Amino acid sequence: MKLVSPFLKYVVYPYLAGSGYLRRRRGAGPAIVTYHGVLPPGYEPMDPALDGSLVTPEALRQQLRLLKAHYQLIAPAQFLQWCEAKQDLPPRSVLLTCDDGLQNTLTDMLPILLEAGVTCLFFVTGASLSDTPSMLWYEELYLMFLAAPETLSLELSQIGVQAQAAGHEKRGLWVNLVKRLSQCDAAARQALVEQIRIQLRLPGDWSAPYRDASGRGRRFLMLNLPELQRLAASGMSIGAHTLSHPMLSQAPPDVAWSEISESRRRLEQHLGEPVWALAYPFGDAGSVTQRELDMAAQAGFTCAFLNVDGGLGAETPRFALPRVHVTADMALPQFEAHVSGFYRALRERFWTNSSSEAS
Ligand SMILES: [Zn+2]
Repeated sequence: MKLVSPFLKYVVYPYLAGSGYLRRRRGAGPAIVTYHGVLPPGYEPMDPALDGSLVTPEALRQQLRLLKAHYQLIAPAQFLQWCEAKQDLPPRSVLLTCDDGLQNTLTDMLPILLEAGVTCLFFVTGASLSDTPSMLWYEELYLMFLAAPETLSLELSQIGVQAQAAGHEKRGLWVNLVKRLSQCDAAARQALVEQIRIQLRLPGDWSAPYRDASGRGRRFLMLNLPELQRLAASGMSIGAHTLSHPMLSQAPPDVAWSEISESRRRLEQHLGEPVWALAYPFGDAGSVTQRELDMAAQAGFTCAFLNVDGGLGAETPRFALPRVHVTADMALPQFEAHVSGFYRALRERFWTNSSSEAS
């Protein structure tokens, strides 16, 4: 099956996009795309697993040109009206969303959106309600692993981790730690991340190069409150992405509930606007269960978004809205294959068990 993906990417998608077939596809319901920000100038991607969701400014411009020419970009407010069954959407509607609230969304992505005259729904965490900028904890952990000695040794009895890892095993340990650390509330998790730093023998200021005013700071730091307020004042919509971005399915009920409901309450308090949308962190089948869908509804959101299975013609349950996750390696025809729903239809037809066999 491995040969299928390049065949799709380099032969099938360009042919179908070039012939206009993709944009002639029809289907009820909008396509929703997920960005994670734009690579700032001066920042060289370090690792595909870390940077694979951020696109270049040129890729974003090209994608917006395509959507404006052949699809119908809708504003978040229109999408909300549609969710509340107050308004229909035009055919081939596309909503732009962007998760995590990294600084580059304000410094590098916003100018491109404004230049194109389009609006986007930005999902931010509770970290953007603070005056002090911080990193996403799981990215901080990944950077620690990159900076650590070749062989890692960790012992964290609180979450039942005792592990050694070298080379490519480090990634498996990181994935395991993301799950285990999601079982804790934000404060306990941050204390454990600090313990990990000490056990990896990294100095207290190890992350300083990632926090400066250069491209690295814009890549890794999240917006602080004044920056978030500037993003909101520019006409963009703001939604919740939980307080601290845990893998919600792993969290005990009280932690999951607080992450979901408090993020809405605190964002509304600081922005003075209703916060009607939630994006589940990570947003795949492993990180979201029925419990989280119920909690999102109970917490007063109008709708909530996954990060998989999107594209025109998808089913659109209000608390499990599918999205197209835009990645750095997507050429324009592949992007269109996903937005048009062609990729999802192909996958449902031929690869029912896994979304990772082709892209
Ligand atoms: Zn996220």
